[in-house]
Amino acid sequence: SVATRDVHLAFGRNKVLHGVDLDVARGDTACVIGPSGSGKSTLLRTINRLLEPDRGDVLLDGESVLTRDPDELRQQIGMVFQQFNLFPHMTVLRNVTLALRQLRGLSRDEADEVALRQLDLVGLRHKADVRPGRLSGGQQQRVAIARALAMSPRVMLFDEATSALDPELVKGVLSLMADLAGQGMTMVVVTHEMGFARQVADQVVFMDRGRVVEAGPPAELFETPRSPRLQGFLSQVL
Ligand code: ATP
Ligand code: MG
Repeated sequence: SVATRDVHLAFGRNKVLHGVDLDVARGDTACVIGPSGSGKSTLLRTINRLLEPDRGDVLLDGESVLTRDPDELRQQIGMVFQQFNLFPHMTVLRNVTLALRQLRGLSRDEADEVALRQLDLVGLRHKADVRPGRLSGGQQQRVAIARALAMSPRVMLFDEATSALDPELVKGVLSLMADLAGQGMTMVVVTHEMGFARQVADQVVFMDRGRVVEAGPPAELFETPRSPRLQGFLSQVL
């Protein structure tokens, strides 16, 4: 499970999170939606300690992450970004094995086995020996997901993982994410894909100006939004 408790965060004088509470049960998928600048990425980054909250706490399976070693923590929390952040000079296989070897200390053979299995699951085993630049954006994003999954994380965070993709490539990545959710991965997904949120999320969290304005099951949020701000947001994006 993942939870945030009254998380506050400011960049200098710019207060960005004003007491955010999030609760994602183990095996659930929460989709975080909201306007640009509302603090969605900032919230995700506090979960894996890319950012430190000024106040409040972040819990992974009930334990505070704030006292944990960030490197060790990030092995348990996979994160996928809009820009895939693959190493261009390494093959797909080496991109996936790097952390397994350096952080987990696996031998080359062991790491290759884990990596090839993950690449198989995302349908890209046949691309193991090419460099990322030879792949489509959608394929690169699936490699980035395989790389995160290779570490057997307890939680996966996605920050607009499909926003940089050409429209025809979005579907493949979303269906991979839906499969993961269906297999019981705990996920926090920041997305503009309302169809995905509606179909896959156990919980939709609407953020605006650094606060969770409304959270609940997708049917409830999308069909009967209570707050004027969510009503306004949905009328723009649906
Ligand atoms: P988007 O949908 O555009 O990605 P978001 O909801 O993810 O928006 P954030 O990226 O969390 O929003 O940004 C929230 C606020 O924090 C914005 O005002 C932004 O300018 C500010 N901010 C984000 N990152 C930083 C940073 N590293 N340094 C200073 N200010 C930042
Ligand atoms: Mg963002």
